[in-house]
Amino acid sequence: MAKAQTAVLTRHVTGWHLLLAGGALAIVAYYFVQALGPGWAGTQVALYCSANGALLACSLVAARRHRAMTGMALLLAASAAASIFADVVFYFLALVQGEVAYPSIADLGYLASYPLMASAFLMVIRRRTPGWDFASAIDAAIVAVSAGFLVFEFIIVPTAAISGENVATLVSVAYPVGDLMLITVGARLMLGAGLRTVPLRMAGGYLGLVLYADTAYSIQTLNGTYRAGNYLDAVWMTATFLLAAALLHPAAPKLIERSSAATPDATTGRLTVLAIAAMVAPTSMAVQYLRGQPSHVLIAALVCNLLFLLVLARMAGLVTAQRHAAITDGLTGMRSRRFFEQSLHAEVARAGRSGNDVGILLLDIDHFKNVNDTYGHHGGDRVLVELAHRLTGVMRPGDLAARYGGEEFAVLLPGAGPAAAAEVAERIRRAVSIAPIAVGEDRLHRVTVSIGVAGLPSVCTDADELVLAADRALYAAKNAGRDRVVAFDDK
Ligand code: GH3
Ligand code: MG
Ligand code: MG
Repeated sequence: MAKAQTAVLTRHVTGWHLLLAGGALAIVAYYFVQALGPGWAGTQVALYCSANGALLACSLVAARRHRAMTGMALLLAASAAASIFADVVFYFLALVQGEVAYPSIADLGYLASYPLMASAFLMVIRRRTPGWDFASAIDAAIVAVSAGFLVFEFIIVPTAAISGENVATLVSVAYPVGDLMLITVGARLMLGAGLRTVPLRMAGGYLGLVLYADTAYSIQTLNGTYRAGNYLDAVWMTATFLLAAALLHPAAPKLIERSSAATPDATTGRLTVLAIAAMVAPTSMAVQYLRGQPSHVLIAALVCNLLFLLVLARMAGLVTAQRHAAITDGLTGMRSRRFFEQSLHAEVARAGRSGNDVGILLLDIDHFKNVNDTYGHHGGDRVLVELAHRLTGVMRPGDLAARYGGEEFAVLLPGAGPAAAAEVAERIRRAVSIAPIAVGEDRLHRVTVSIGVAGLPSVCTDADELVLAADRALYAAKNAGRDRVVAFDDK
């Protein structure tokens, strides 16, 4: 019994659990040591640095363990090293000199950690969603612009107003700008496409906690209520241990796994985030006005205009995506049956006026039920995708291929007479059967298709009759033994 329990425990307790537990202990010890008095300051600093030390170590472990993560992990390591450097310098100056000049060389380390951290997250984003993913980029821009307005109005402006010299002002303003950088990449990461694994949520938790602590620190400093060693240190340490543990998590490589979807769906949660973000600037301006406090009307107006434009761009993107989805088959990326039928009607009408030829082909995969039964639905779907690929590969520009039904395809050949249409059909038939298709890992299956051909001019007078004629020819091809092309004979 006890043995079984131990086995379960060792199976479930892994490195990242231990790291989180160790982190919690370090945080408790940090405040305990602080209560012991100034004589323990060195130990306190060491405990504080243990968080970034853990991040540094875990980044190096991840860089070694997962080759694909090396770049981003090394950037994280560099960011952690910069923070440790800054902490050590800060406390050294505080202990030796009694007072730290502002800005000091420690600020250099702190400020360097922001772009290093942001670059690491940018690398993660690039890996997860190669290409642009415009929709997510716009969503992130909406969040970043709103957050940027709040940071500007409530942190940067008041900070710049109270800082004395130019260099001090510059450094003080650089911190919220660094946070803004993290907000932007954080929003892009969390709103972008890709797997929502535990490590991703931990990274999101890291960003949320750091941004909360940095903002609270700025506000407390402005109010004069900040006390070194207050609860914010626990928030910063928790965040850092969380990110370190994410790197040790077994699913860490999934952080950079390429997303299968180009753009995530516009869910209610996402729309709520965007609605709140879009309302931030105008609401803040109204509240400032009602309180009789000065607000930066010009900046707020510019921000509102920018947000309107971003929301409009997002809407335009949604409409385009919707239109594309309506005429595209989700599995194969081919045109949909509806699009084929519309195009066929238009082509037949044009042929009626001009007397041009029109050819159509209907294809049905032979014994497709067997494929599904033998290799599963997923194997069947792989055949459909590969078939679409081969089909479009042998067609000329101007011709149209569509997924007509489950395992049926239709091809529209404007200007093709009976001989030309039959020739294209034969080319397709050969392209499909020439090489077996991969239906699974190391599993190949040879697939054939039967094709019915029909065209104008013929006894058919409209598009529906033409489809019916091609369907009859397809039926004849099946009856004649499959893997062949049969043209509709109207004599
Ligand atoms: P035949 O040679 O007579 O065409 O035989 P068949 O087995 O291909 O028969 P039929 O054309 O009636 O095939 C229909 C089967 O195709 C039924 C269904 O299981 C499968 N199917 C239809 N749509 C899909 C799909 O989207 N994905 C997969 N995997 N299978 C599909
Ligand atoms: Mg069928
Ligand atoms: Mg079939």
